[in-house]
Amino acid sequence: MFRINSRCISCGTCWQFDPEHFANGGAAAVVCQQPRELPALQRALLALQACPVAAIEASAEQRLQRPDDGFPVPVTRHRHGEVFYCGWASKRSFGACSWLIRRPDGNVMVDVPRWSAPLARRIEALGGLATIVLTHRDDVADHARWARAFGAERWIHGADAEAAPEAERHMEGAASRLIGDGLRLIPTPGHTAGSMCLQLGEQRAVLFSGDHLWWNRELQVVVASERYCWWDFERQIQSVRALLPLDVAWLLPGHGHRHVFAVGEWQMALEQTLAWVQG
Ligand code: SF4
Repeated sequence: MFRINSRCISCGTCWQFDPEHFANGGAAAVVCQQPRELPALQRALLALQACPVAAIEASAEQRLQRPDDGFPVPVTRHRHGEVFYCGWASKRSFGACSWLIRRPDGNVMVDVPRWSAPLARRIEALGGLATIVLTHRDDVADHARWARAFGAERWIHGADAEAAPEAERHMEGAASRLIGDGLRLIPTPGHTAGSMCLQLGEQRAVLFSGDHLWWNRELQVVVASERYCWWDFERQIQSVRALLPLDVAWLLPGHGHRHVFAVGEWQMALEQTLAWVQG
């Protein structure tokens, strides 16, 4: 039997990763359905592994079925890189998602999970880690350990740099910047002064949005949250508007649900968000 213990911090990692078996119960996650068949059981066991506070319990017999390969799990493939979800969420970033982009010119990690030797071995097998992008000050987790293990270069915006003072590369100002072929850093200040998105590709792009934007599956809307804005919400709305011209296919946030947009849906969704927050 899977169960949630009292350590749960309601971070959302489990129900975003495996909504078939876990759900938001308000103050804590709940097991909404016990996994039965092996693929479902292995998905739930990965959610258990991703939980930042070991709040998901399963029987010893069930735990034996944990998949050998585990995280990172594939998400999507773009011509500029193959995207994976890293799991192994960190309590220090309240369970924020970390993503890996596998690229011929060096792999890129977007925000950072807790340190995990099994994950590091898997990333090594996928080609190692050349670059770490820290989208903002909240989700840096064990960045120093990951950077040291792989000799990776870290990017952070100067306005959030005190969260990772050892970072090798700083973005400054408001202009976007290519940091690799088809890989663009876009300053999106608001949630924090140094928030950034990372755009993979220009057409049908993958947008790693940190805590600037996320998808709400229940309401089917893109969320820019004033409640969780730590710096300047007016500025955050300007930063949302600046993303309207993009051609986004995948939204991969730090918190909240990911989402896939059909052609043209990105602009409609952002306009709806802007109308809602301004109304
Ligand atoms: S991942 Fe763990 S801490 Fe987060 S909501 Fe699920 S059970 Fe709770």
